[in-house]
Amino acid sequence: LLLPLALFLAGLFAGLAIWLSRRRLSPRGELALAVRNREFLAHYQPIIELATGRCIGAEALVRWRRPDGSLVRPDLFIPLAEETGFIGPITDHVVERVVDDLGDLLRRDRRLHIAINLGAADISSGRILPVLEAALADTGIEPQQIWLEATERGFVDIEGARHTLAALRRRGHMTAIDDFGTGYSGLKYLQRLPVDALKIDKSFIDAVGTEAPTSHVTEHIIAMARELKLRIVAEGVETEAQAAYLRQRGVGFAQGWLFSRALPPEEFAAFCTRNRKTFGVPANVETLAA
Ligand code: C2E
Ligand code: MG
Ligand code: MG
Ligand code: MG
Repeated sequence: LLLPLALFLAGLFAGLAIWLSRRRLSPRGELALAVRNREFLAHYQPIIELATGRCIGAEALVRWRRPDGSLVRPDLFIPLAEETGFIGPITDHVVERVVDDLGDLLRRDRRLHIAINLGAADISSGRILPVLEAALADTGIEPQQIWLEATERGFVDIEGARHTLAALRRRGHMTAIDDFGTGYSGLKYLQRLPVDALKIDKSFIDAVGTEAPTSHVTEHIIAMARELKLRIVAEGVETEAQAAYLRQRGVGFAQGWLFSRALPPEEFAAFCTRNRKTFGVPANVETLAA
């Protein structure tokens, strides 16, 4: 009877100690501790090929699992990580998670790819190049299976960005501009950066089928991307009407809650297997694709 009681008390004190030490930490201090304790994991949001409804891979989206078990969304800590310089170790961690979580799946199905988000510092400094090379070495994962995406914040140092993106492409990776249309000078970047794909921000997908002036901008973004022969991935697709609109205009890929939320690794693997047969193909698509 004494042993369980002692264990219970020890657990209680340990919990209390963690709680007390965390309580005194600033957000920066908390993040530093989280990085040291490797409290990050990735969920995977399926990316769908619109013409066929097939799952062609996923975007890795980082989550911070705190010691109390709660999951913190990236919007709440990525900006701080960018400010404090912790984004580098977080990116490294996500890269490792992708290899660990999905290595088997990626080796089994060469058509699958995973998109990883980069922070501004990862790109301007080029630090992501050796990190990726080391993480992928001897894993059997092909560079073509890893896509890298970054928002315009990553392109402020445009020469650094060009250099890193070009090197990534030379190694066989695909590069994409994330949240396209939300920055200041999308066009300037598009013409000057070595990128393969453009991800249309959710705000432009939300506008589809509405009277909002933004809906015309969506039309123009799609036309422009096609002109430049870039692949297009639409973000935040929530309705069949939006998917139909995009499909009609030849947009290649989409992700969003219509298809799936971001999933833990095992659920994503199951989704892919299931999806290979039927899921996500609206009735009218088979005829379109045929
Ligand atoms: P993002 O790269 O543009 O990722 C898309 C975000 O939209 C994700 O939020 C995703 O869960 C959400 N989303 C996807 N489909 C839908 C939809 O149909 N409806 C709605 N309302 N939302 C949808 P999440 O996971 O909270 O990530 C937020 C942002 O945090 C990401 O935006 C990205 O900029 C950043 N982020 C996530 N993971 C990483 C990472 O590993 N590294 C870096 N540097 N940034 C990351
Ligand atoms: Mg992204
Ligand atoms: Mg995005
Ligand atoms: Mg976005």
